[in-house]
Formats: sequence, structure tokens, C-alpha cells
Amino acid sequence: MSGDGATDTLSFNPDALRDRYREERDKRVRTDGNSQYVRIAARFADFLHDPYVETPIDRAPLTDEVEVVVIGGGFGGLLAGVALREAGVKDIRMMESAADFGGTWYWNRYPGAACDIESYVYLPLLEETGYIPVERYARAPEIYEHSRRIARQWNLYDNALFQTAVKELRWDAAAQRWIIHTNRGDAIRARFVIMSNGPLNAPKLPGIPGIETFKGHAFHTSRWDYAYTGGNVLGNLDKLGDKRVGIIGTGATAVQCVPHLGAGAKHLYVFQRTPSAVNVRGDKPTDPEWAKSQAPGWQQRRMENFNVLVSGGYQAEDLVNDGWTEAFRELVHIAQREDAKGLSPEKLAELAELADFATMERIRGRVDKVVRDHAVAEALKPWYRQFCKRPCFHDDYLETFNRPNVTLVDTQGHGVERVTENAIIANGQTYEIDCLVYATGFEVGTSYAQRCGYEIYGKDGLSISQDWAKGVRSLHGLMVHDFPNLFILGGAQGGFTANYPHNLKEQAGQSAYIIDQAYARQARVVEPTVEAEEAWIATIIDKARIAEGFLKACTPGYYNNEGRPEEANRQNTTYGGGSVEYFQVLQAWREAGDLPGLALS
Ligand code: NDP
Repeated sequence: MSGDGATDTLSFNPDALRDRYREERDKRVRTDGNSQYVRIAARFADFLHDPYVETPIDRAPLTDEVEVVVIGGGFGGLLAGVALREAGVKDIRMMESAADFGGTWYWNRYPGAACDIESYVYLPLLEETGYIPVERYARAPEIYEHSRRIARQWNLYDNALFQTAVKELRWDAAAQRWIIHTNRGDAIRARFVIMSNGPLNAPKLPGIPGIETFKGHAFHTSRWDYAYTGGNVLGNLDKLGDKRVGIIGTGATAVQCVPHLGAGAKHLYVFQRTPSAVNVRGDKPTDPEWAKSQAPGWQQRRMENFNVLVSGGYQAEDLVNDGWTEAFRELVHIAQREDAKGLSPEKLAELAELADFATMERIRGRVDKVVRDHAVAEALKPWYRQFCKRPCFHDDYLETFNRPNVTLVDTQGHGVERVTENAIIANGQTYEIDCLVYATGFEVGTSYAQRCGYEIYGKDGLSISQDWAKGVRSLHGLMVHDFPNLFILGGAQGGFTANYPHNLKEQAGQSAYIIDQAYARQARVVEPTVEAEEAWIATIIDKARIAEGFLKACTPGYYNNEGRPEEANRQNTTYGGGSVEYFQVLQAWREAGDLPGLALS
């Protein structure tokens, strides 16, 4: 590399960084991969209890029929509901295990919960609802309220069922209806079902020896126990003043709640296995003049601009211009220092790596600027490429480690050793605690039915678990052969983008389009052909190779099958060509006009 002009003016040594990244990765790769985690079931079932229900419902089981059931009341389900309403579908029933709409923003109410993606692109349907977020980055209550606003505006509360968990979905071939069985004894019939269960909906625990023996208070961040901690989602945890608190995990969730725990607890121990990359957030109130100056269609344009940039594409202007797009701005900057014309893919990849190094150097430099204790600062530095893990953006997290009542327990990539009745053991030392918070994330890579919490039986009693035993099968990640009139949003073989609701909006629109077409063509049943499914699977496998080299060099996490991407089934990935291309594929498919690959009867 040196001497070719690209590295001459760099303030870092790319080879040394590559070596360090490899070293840090290697010490974290484990033989047990994904199975190091424990599913929350049976003896840990209390961890799933909904602490936010104000009025538990008590109702008789239902056996009625609707045209479309939408499972999941998060943004995916809501956007599906809106798209159906816009297509003129009146008979819709939203079903949700929580007590209200909101999805991830219903469940995740931990102190400091907020969205890292700019609110003006993240919150869907701003122009349609006439709502302008109060700040550049929305906090959880505002997002939750916006979910309810959408539901109200499109009458999605009508006929909705809350506190109702689906237990089984079964296709009745004779009636050409889905039968939806629930934990309330319902057997509801529906012509179409749209499922949007969420990609990170099932909290998981670490399989640390002894977690079942802990006798203090313990909970997962996605079921925060304010009765114990005091305070609320905005902080002020006023019941922790005499408590020693331990938190396991330092991902995007922990980064947001650690400052509040540090402010509230008598003492806080943060148990770290891998540090997050914590970049500048720079939140600020929305300028009303800016909001007024936006021309119609502004939100979609802004979403698309952001999506192209975070997908590594070129836009003349960076409208969002924040930490997410920083590395890509850097890439353009470096590329301009060379003859940018006719760069080979290899050269572009090399430049992208340099841009990434530059961004991560700044992020590591920020730790030195903020954290006073040198050893603590060193331990908080992330040594991997920015998009190996979920990038974080926070302006108080690092500062928290300057507090005298906060201890970072860095486990050098090994994790916590053991949990006892009253303590956590790490690095051979015992840390006595009263309260243990699990910020250990959500199931990824487990079976689809397990994450949904129910099995789906299609034609001839075939279960989705059987059908997908050797890998996910679908057309566009949305529809599955032998599972007619069923749509899956946000799953494998679909799109992926940092601004997740953008993907859900596209998929919701596609599903509503197909349902509308089925009505227009007087078809009772619609499902993909085997050939169309096979062709899509081949595309997914082919495109999966694009990201594999990058992921293999990454430190372990849920993005790369815990450091073993080569063992993950290529069929189970999202569309490797990126979301920009995926949305184009869906659009071109609609424009074809004859529903290619779908069989209607
Ligand atoms: P993650 O899966 O990202 O993090 C889990 C954490 O637990 C990691 O730090 C992991 O360490 C740690 N961990 C696991 N096992 C052990 C162990 N045995 N000992 C010590 N540490 C352990 O979960 P999060 O809830 O933080 O985030 C999940 C996702 O939710 C994010 O990636 C993001 O997509 C989303 N999110 C989005 C937000 C937003 O702003 N929009 C805010 C919060 C979350 P290691 O890294 O070593 O595996």
C-alpha cells in the first residue's frame, strides 16, 4: 500500500491496525458461537413478564373471521395496516402480544431509550400525519406515541386485539383461510395474514454458569423494572441510591442506559466483553423554520438519500450528515485524493477500509479525550471496523466512566465467568451486587418459529420449520410456496438497512399491492411458484458472498453469526446486493404488471 499515494498522508498505520483487529477478533471467537446464549423460557420465563400492562384484559375466546390479520403492532405491522387501508381494505385486525402498538418501542423503555437514526428519516409517515419530531434524535416515548398516532389516524385500533399472543397459524385448505390460534383460546379465521414479528423481539440471556442461582434482583433491559429502580424512561432512577448494580453487556442498549444507572446507583459495575464504537450524537431541538421550509415529498427524499449513502452509494448532497454517513463521506474524501476515475472494486474496497480506519481512529481518539483514567480509556477502545457491530452514538456514555461510583470491569474479550447468589465473578475477582441488569440483546439466528413464538402450518400440514429445515425459502423474503396468502415482513431473504422502518415500508407496500391485485383479479389464493422461489434462493446465495469476506474479518457479534459467518446458511441472510437494489427489485417486479412468479387461483 505505501508509496501509492493513498497512505502517504495518513496518521495511522493500516498494517498495524489490521493486525490489531485480527488479534482482538481471534481472542473473541468461541467454539459455541450462537449456542452460548440461553433462550428465555421455562425457569427464566419471568424475564418475559410484561411490566407495562396497566389493565390486564379478560375476554371470551373469538372464533370470528376477518379479511386480513396483521400480526405485530410495531412499525412493520402499522405500515402494513396503513398500506392496506390506502388500498381500500376495510376488514383488518391487528394482533399484538403487548398491551398497545409500538413494537420494539413498546418493550424497550429502559432509561435513556432513544433512536440513533435521525428522527426525520426514522419515524414513518411524518408528512402524512403532519407530525414533526421535537429533536433530531427521538426518545422512546415520542416514538411510542407516534406509533399510536399512526394507529389512530388509520383506524387500526378498530377490531385490534392486544395482550394476545399467537400460538399457531394453520392453513385450512378447504376453507382457503388461515386459522389463528392464540393464548386466549381464539381460533380466528383470515383470508390473508401479514406477519411482522420484529428482527430483535425475543430477549436472550448469556449462558453464564450460575445465572439461575442469583438471589438478588435481576431483569433484562427490554422489560425494565421501574418498580425496583425508580424513575422512568427519561432517567432519575431514585430507588437505586443504596444499591450495587451490575450490568452485563455494552451494546447499543447498554450505551444508552449506563449513564442513568451510573447517576442513580450507589455503585455500578459495567461488565464488558467487547467495547462499542461510541461516536458523537450531537442531538438538538428541531428548528421550526427548517421544518416549515421542507417541500412536499421531503421525507421520502431524505430517507432515500440516507439509504443510498449508508449503503455505500453516491449522492451529491448528504442531507442527514451525521455519524452514520461519516465513513462514507470520508471515503469520497479519500477517493478524491487519487484519480477516482475507473477505480477497480479492489481499489475501492481498499479505500473504504482506509476511510473506516480514519473514522475508527477518531472514535478511539474521542475516548482519550473524554475518559481521564488511561487504563479505563484503553479498555473502552473498539478495535474492529465500524460496521462489524451496531455503531453507537452517545454524548454521556464515555463520561460516565469518570464517575467515582462507576467501575468498568473489562473481561478482555472473555466475558463474565460465573454468577453466584450475590455476585458476579469476572477476571477471577468477585463483585458483590444487589441488582443485575442483562443488556445482552435478542435472539438472532435461532429458528424463525422459535423467535415468533408459534409454528406456521401451510398446505398439507407442512410446518415452516420443516420447510426451512435446510434454509429459508421464499420469493423476495416475503412469500413462501405452500404457505398461501401469507406475508413475512423483516425476515431473511428480504432487505436490510440501518433505517429499518424504510425496509418495512417497502415490504408493507409490496404486500398490500399483492393483496390488492388478488382482489382485483378475483383470486382466492396467491402463492409463489417453486421455480420463482428457487430463483430467488439462488440470487440470495449468490449475493451473500459479497459480504462474507468483510464479516469474516469482524469481531464476533450477531451481525456475523458470532464470528463464524462461513457456518451460517447463506440462504438465511438478507439480500446481499443492499437495500437500494432490493427496493428496485420490488419496484421492477410491480412494474412488470403480471405478478411474475406468483400463482393465483
Ligand atoms: P447486543 O446484542 O448488541 O449486545 C449484547 C451485549 O452483551 C454485547 O455487548 C455482548 O458482548 C454482551 N455479552 C453477551 N454475553 C456476554 C457475556 N457472557 N459476558 C459479558 N458480556 C456479554 O444487544 P443490545 O440490546 O445492546 O442491542 C441490540 C440491537 O438493538 C442493536 O444492535 C440495535 O440494532 C438495536 N438498538 C437500537 C437502538 C437505536 O438507537 N435505534 C438502541 C438500542 C438498541 P459482545 O459484543 O462481546 O458479544
